[in-house]
Amino acid sequence: MASAKSTSSEVRRPIRKTFTAFVVAVSLVLISVIAVTNVLLNHNNRMDEYQRDQAGALQGLVAVGKPLLEAGGGTVLREVAIAAAESPSVGAVAYFDSKGELVATNDVPPHSGNLMFESVATAWKEKSEISHTMDGYNVVMRPVLSDGVVVGFVGAEFTSATISALFYRHLIWNAVLGLLALTLAGYASWIAATRATEPLMQMIDFTSKLSHRRLTARIRITSANEFETLAGAFNQLMARLNDTMSRVQRLAYMDPITELPNRERFNRELTEALSSLGKQDMLAVILLDIERFRWVNETLGPQRGDEALSVVGKRISHALQKADRAVRLAEAERAPSMVGRLGADEFAIVIPRLIAKEQAARILQLVVSAMRQPIKLGEHSVTLGLSGGVAIAPSDGDTPEDLIKNADLALKEAKREGSNRARFFTQRLNQAALDRLNLETEIRQGIEEDQFFPMFQPKVSFKTGKIIGAEALARWRRTNGEMISPALFIPMAEELGLINHIGESILRSACHHATRWMQDGHDCRVAVNVSPRQFENATFADMVLESLRQAGLPPGRLELEVTETMAVEDPERVSDIMRPLRAMGVRLAIDDFGAGHSNLGTLTKLPFDVFKIDQQFVRALHSDKQAPAIIEMILAMADALGLETVAEGVETVSQSDFLRRRGCTIAQGYLYSPPLPADEFSEFLSGWQPFGDPVDIMANGFQ
Ligand code: C2E
Ligand code: MG
Ligand code: MG
Repeated sequence: MASAKSTSSEVRRPIRKTFTAFVVAVSLVLISVIAVTNVLLNHNNRMDEYQRDQAGALQGLVAVGKPLLEAGGGTVLREVAIAAAESPSVGAVAYFDSKGELVATNDVPPHSGNLMFESVATAWKEKSEISHTMDGYNVVMRPVLSDGVVVGFVGAEFTSATISALFYRHLIWNAVLGLLALTLAGYASWIAATRATEPLMQMIDFTSKLSHRRLTARIRITSANEFETLAGAFNQLMARLNDTMSRVQRLAYMDPITELPNRERFNRELTEALSSLGKQDMLAVILLDIERFRWVNETLGPQRGDEALSVVGKRISHALQKADRAVRLAEAERAPSMVGRLGADEFAIVIPRLIAKEQAARILQLVVSAMRQPIKLGEHSVTLGLSGGVAIAPSDGDTPEDLIKNADLALKEAKREGSNRARFFTQRLNQAALDRLNLETEIRQGIEEDQFFPMFQPKVSFKTGKIIGAEALARWRRTNGEMISPALFIPMAEELGLINHIGESILRSACHHATRWMQDGHDCRVAVNVSPRQFENATFADMVLESLRQAGLPPGRLELEVTETMAVEDPERVSDIMRPLRAMGVRLAIDDFGAGHSNLGTLTKLPFDVFKIDQQFVRALHSDKQAPAIIEMILAMADALGLETVAEGVETVSQSDFLRRRGCTIAQGYLYSPPLPADEFSEFLSGWQPFGDPVDIMANGFQ
């Protein structure tokens, strides 16, 4: 703004100066011409006047002198001469008689010396007027006639000094008047220049504002001429341009679905808030993730997904406003918190000034609770949750990038912990993220170097005591020989989208080993765990069938384990994918059953062959009163549905005893064997003695 002003005044000044200089120059020339003409004319007039005066004076001298000369001159003539010579323009006066003799003089020698006395002789001879000039003096000698007869001569010396003095005085006066006129002309021309150039100046101001992107600038010209018309046209053009620019800006900085600021705008606001953050102040960045949004999008379609986003955006924004006022009081008026949509189902809040971290926690809590109400999407009513991650400036970072990255780490941690959770960023999370980064590099390397392989844990039939199958459990042996648990690398591989590689290699290897067992005469199935991410892959079923074909394993010898949570989350997808596999004879087991607290109605509709009771219930059998009841209920349900049941984590004889008596069909656990490397498992399988009573196992030493 300030620079716009200075630029326009920088342009204005030279224009006005040039214009004024031009007018002054023209005035100067005109005034000079007028003054010189005036002085010259005046001078000519003076000369004429002077000559007239001279002639008059001479005439007077002749008239007065004539009777006196006729009478013979005398003292009177001398007084006449003296009196006449008192005039400033008369230097000397002399009377001569008809013979040219001097009769009277004013007693002062003439300036022109003897010229007067010399010229009388000529005048006498020629009987006519003689005049001469010398040293600026004009000497005139005139005969005095009486009835045509020369009675004498009168000579007078006239000076032109007074004329020059008058000339110079006049010149000075003209110069003074000229200067005065020039000053007035300068002032008048400045005013005229200002008036005349005003529309031009307005245009300059206007273009200067435009060059500083002030599209709201307008020209105000009311000169009732072409300038005003031009200004009107410009103003209209600018109004239209301004409208267009606002629309472009809105589109560039606003998310069209939620009408909230988009990522660019959010980053800008965050940068601004950070730059005006006082030394004592804190600022919070909160990342929010909508839970179950993907489910809405995939199940109800993207249009409903957009609707959901729009409702969620409005709710967050409304709840944030209320929470902000309730928690930050007057500060919320001065610097309100703001929400934007950063991506798919990710929203972000910036709280520009905080006195305590707790304020951010309270605001987040209020925003999260606003999501508890179900959302109406067409004929569906859906309850979506919110997870939140908070990073505080300056302790967790002082750049938008750092704060968003750290809030994201906190958000991921919150999501890992369960639904509707929120977490503050801590340095520990940062370390965990770094660890994860290293882990990522190592997992990728592990895939390339084939470091993932299955171990096998036997599953024993309660009825026959035979090993009827084995579960393939992934292991990762790192380059340094260290063995890593799947609980660590499977979630990470899922997150990185690498689980398909690992899952596929475990499946191929498991099929390959199961074929070997079959070839060795064992009736032993193999169960392979499948991650939800693998089910997202449209070619999953083809991959399974191809692995079976390559290994030469009958599909009936393969069992796929999917976790209960996944089965319930997307039952239709699981059914769709399993359909061709089941048609070929592949079996399906629900893993960790009982842990997901699922709707049993949904589960019974799924094409399952086996329930695997979650090991937490088996472990709690003798410590938790409810555990036996839950296990009994699962067993009864499986029995009613004609499904097999596998009890996981069987570690003691009493657990095994309880399960067998209650009708559980298969046992898996350390009581029989821990997971074993493939070759050890083959040996174990060959050496296994079926038992009829658990006591035999004790005797066989398999505890
Ligand atoms: P899961 O499928 O429920 O596997 C059973 C887990 O319980 C295995 O842990 C097994 O070693 C352990 N276990 C077996 N018997 C006992 C016992 O008597 N006591 C105790 N305390 N634990 C016992 P593991 O091998 O660490 O695997 C953990 C989880 O990792 C598995 O749980 C499964 O969900 C996942 N996982 C393993 N391999 C794969 C795989 O190839 N793909 C996928 N997607 N997930 C896998
Ligand atoms: Mg399993
Ligand atoms: Mg399990």
